[in-house]
Amino acid sequence: MHNRILQVAIDTPLDTTFDYRCSVSEVTSEQPHRGQFVRVPFGKREVAGLIVGVTEHSDVPIEKMRDVIELRHQLSPLSQQWMELCEFAADYYQRPLGEVALPAVPKALRDAKPGAIDRALKKIATQAASIQTHASEVAATAAPVLNTEQQYAVDAIAATTGYACHLLFGITGSGKTQVYLQAAKAVREKTIALGERAQVLILVPEINLTPQLEDQVRAAFPSLHVVTLHSQLSEGERLRHWLAAHEAQADILLGTRLAVLASMPHLKLIIIDEEHDASYKQQEGLRYSARDLAIWRARQLAIPVVLGSATPSIESWHHAETGKYQRHALTQRAAALATVPRVGLIDTEREKATEGLCPSLLNALRERLARGEQSLLFLNRRGYAPVMHCDACGWISNCRRCTAFMVLHKPERRLRCHHCSLELRIPSSCPTCGNVDLQPLGRGTQRVEEHLHTLFPDARILRIDADSTRRKGSAQEAFEAVHRGEVDILLGTQMVAKGHDFQRLTLVGVINPDTALFSQDYRASERLFAQLMQVAGRAGRAASSLGSVSEVLVQTRYPQHPLYRALMNQDYTGFAASVVEERRSAGLPPFVFQALLRAEAKLLASALEFLNTAKELMPHEGIIINDPVPMTITRVAGVERAQLLLESSSRVVLQAFLKPWLHALRDTKSRLRWSLEVDPVDI
Ligand code: ADP
Ligand code: ZN
Ligand code: ZN
Repeated sequence: MHNRILQVAIDTPLDTTFDYRCSVSEVTSEQPHRGQFVRVPFGKREVAGLIVGVTEHSDVPIEKMRDVIELRHQLSPLSQQWMELCEFAADYYQRPLGEVALPAVPKALRDAKPGAIDRALKKIATQAASIQTHASEVAATAAPVLNTEQQYAVDAIAATTGYACHLLFGITGSGKTQVYLQAAKAVREKTIALGERAQVLILVPEINLTPQLEDQVRAAFPSLHVVTLHSQLSEGERLRHWLAAHEAQADILLGTRLAVLASMPHLKLIIIDEEHDASYKQQEGLRYSARDLAIWRARQLAIPVVLGSATPSIESWHHAETGKYQRHALTQRAAALATVPRVGLIDTEREKATEGLCPSLLNALRERLARGEQSLLFLNRRGYAPVMHCDACGWISNCRRCTAFMVLHKPERRLRCHHCSLELRIPSSCPTCGNVDLQPLGRGTQRVEEHLHTLFPDARILRIDADSTRRKGSAQEAFEAVHRGEVDILLGTQMVAKGHDFQRLTLVGVINPDTALFSQDYRASERLFAQLMQVAGRAGRAASSLGSVSEVLVQTRYPQHPLYRALMNQDYTGFAASVVEERRSAGLPPFVFQALLRAEAKLLASALEFLNTAKELMPHEGIIINDPVPMTITRVAGVERAQLLLESSSRVVLQAFLKPWLHALRDTKSRLRWSLEVDPVDI
């Protein structure tokens, strides 16, 4: 027998690994291995851990060290490259390795109960037997002949040797999906010809909003094993799919941001659809960007990565401009019958709206109804009205726990705070003066829906937003109804902007998107532009078969605004160029690197004081630390929030500062809740 020392990562906020003793016999094959799971004592508990290193030396005397309880050999160890990916993520985003690596694997594998892994593996083995029977029901479809631009992109991706980042810049409907699929096919064939195996990772923003993609992938690869990973899977499914990727049975993994940390030992290509989408950024815990990690992973593995978008993020666009990424443009709609919609602006100063709808938008709706075509109205505000108000005394429906208004939800007969979920019955009279005539101010989707019903009593009107789709599966049902042509007017929030390819849709109306123009968040206009281009892209998918022109009408008070001018010309390139210049002159990303420290406290003063201490904690050459400021929505659920922004023109300098700084910050033993975000997106 021989004593080994295992360095074990555990899912705890303590930023260190833990040493354990492990006696192994020289004769058995069961040697501990980096990347393997273990069960260890931790305080009074037993926990699951991941072996990071096996050594002979430790600062802890061996007789004081505790013994490993179990080496979990049932699972093949995670690869060196996977371990390095997690180590990089932990390092870059300033989190303990255990908090990165363990949550990245399915629950059953990090279950501390004795025999947990055996039980889980046995369970999925029996499930697998029953699943085999209905696998791969999707019929294979012949791939369309690619157009020149598509083919050019596929060839460039397939010709990559080693790492390269390809930016596939294609308008909505230009056939990006076909490029992904054909590139995957080509890269796989090329790799297999070399006698190697090939797995492909496809990342999508939200799987529920793109159910068509999963079918397309299955249809394109009928003989391959395709699995999905996203947060809607049951634990059992997640385990099965994760293992299929880890054991290299799965050839293609389609998933949301969390799939970027999947174990894929034969990964040869990564594809990121809608790379600009905000949902690639995790907003709690490990605040990572799945896109950025995917690019790091591709570089580490020396494989190609494809970023697809009609409206790339300004960062990606800038990298393409400077030659860091290879850009491939798809400038035409691919399907034979598709046309590019015409974008028009309706000046709401000139045309008076009733209940938020201008006469020319109503006329356009009427025309579609008469022709039996579908229309989509986009209003990114759910509820009936964003606030209730008393004319007599000025009372307004503030949330008592947040710096926000309670939103009127008429069908539910509630006032709801969208920040803390507080719900109240709608007051029948003003809480301060007793006035019974309380007024809704502004409008959300419910109010526009109500008005549409009175205007078009015979039309089939459907609202899709977070409120109308609370029940599991209801969003899907709603979208299917639209696809079947059972809806004349679809009204919704950003949920309706993404992915769906409605064949009979020839009109998109956008109701008052102006607020984002004046947001404090410097990314708001980039997001608005992307959102409007995306929703505009819903129109005209098959318009010429209907013999009509498809149209996008945007109601705005500021028709001269450069963003709307660019939208009208569908000129992403011009828009991006102006944003890049703004960012350059204002010293914003991608020209500087940022980190954001947030603090929460019962009193705003305590949060600010903590951040001031943090600011003065250490010398910080090459880094600007701004003054602490309250967050835009300062109070949420009774907690006051403030933030401190750090900036540097050098990522390396910033990274080198953060680690010792956070150590010093932990040593202050402050009892405030605080967190750090590297490359923050909502500032
Ligand atoms: P994007 O993802 O760029 O918005 P899609 O991949 O959804 O576009 O393609 C839009 C439509 O064009 C789909 O119906 C697709 O089947 C079709 N399509 C793609 N490529 C071709 C092609 N080369 N020939 C004919 N139709 C195509
Ligand atoms: Zn009042
Ligand atoms: Zn609230």
